[in-house]
Amino acid sequence: MATEKVKVLIIGSGPAGYTAAIYSARAGMNPVLYSGGQPGGQLTITGEVENYPGYPKGVEGPQMMMDLKEQAERFGTQVRDGLVTKVDFSRYPFHAVVDDTHELEAEAIIVATGASAKYLGLPSEQRLMNKGVSACAVCDGFFYRGMEVAVIGAGDSAAEEATYLTKLCPKVYLVVRRDEMRASKIMQQRVKTNPKIEILWNSVTEEVLGTDEVTGMRVRNTKTGEVREIPVKGFFVAIGHQPNTGIFKGQLDMDETGYIKVQPGSTRTNIEGVFAVGDAADRVYRQAVTAAGTGCMGALDAERWLAAREHETVPA
Ligand code: NAP
Repeated sequence: MATEKVKVLIIGSGPAGYTAAIYSARAGMNPVLYSGGQPGGQLTITGEVENYPGYPKGVEGPQMMMDLKEQAERFGTQVRDGLVTKVDFSRYPFHAVVDDTHELEAEAIIVATGASAKYLGLPSEQRLMNKGVSACAVCDGFFYRGMEVAVIGAGDSAAEEATYLTKLCPKVYLVVRRDEMRASKIMQQRVKTNPKIEILWNSVTEEVLGTDEVTGMRVRNTKTGEVREIPVKGFFVAIGHQPNTGIFKGQLDMDETGYIKVQPGSTRTNIEGVFAVGDAADRVYRQAVTAAGTGCMGALDAERWLAAREHETVPA
């Protein structure tokens, strides 16, 4: 198949990718956006978003992503299904391969690949994946209504998932590895005052129990050494995320955990003409609104870079 030529290629379809698309489309850059493995990104597996400015009554994450997609398409973005599986930034125009088959050449690239849920790394957790082990209470909580479940983690995600699950389940164990939580004060307060949530402090999961489906968990208290087997049917892991930046390794500069490094105050990477936006380049804030903000910056940076390049290459 012939190589397709595009001006601006946007990789990823979360708030960052769609915002980059809205701005680049309105600037006449005819962006092509590939949605990736989880079209719409993390907000499609979340519930209500209460902290995105402009929605005083909140908005469901999947709805918000559908709205952003519609807005990007309205100005001419080509939103396509497909996963960018390979990139080559050593040649120009940049080269990208979608689903290992379709080849593209792009004059500028905006990386908006986001981040994915982390797991504990236990063999039992892996074995029981989707058989009681989940990283998304909003997606899978419904299957465990009326049952006792556990949430692992102590950040805002864990607090939010535990609180959400109490609407469906009679009891939620929150397994916290230290003697304090990282979650914001308001979220901690919600968890600590919810009678259906029992917090297991200083506790680590040694094993998820069960053969064909989760039947419980073995938890060790690191202060007392006590080991308990607790029956639960759902085991929800909410311990943070890792950036989806594997395909850029060796080409884009990253920190030790894989977040793409950008020049301060911009979305410029170490490769001129490649810009990184959203959670893939943000280990600190990781909010929908900050992702959207950097998506806008990425489009403006790409537009200015392309204009300057054209100016340089056009003879006086
Ligand atoms: P996070 O803030 O990075 O918290 C991860 C939590 O998981 C930490 O408490 C950490 O424990 C724990 N953890 C990590 N590895 C673990 C392991 N192997 N075993 C047990 N526990 C482990 O991640 P997050 O909660 O997903 O939040 C990410 C960002 O999104 C944050 O900025 C958060 O504020 C934001 N967020 C906001 C909302 C909201 O405002 N509605 C909702 C969700 C997320 P330690 O504390 O001991 O390190």
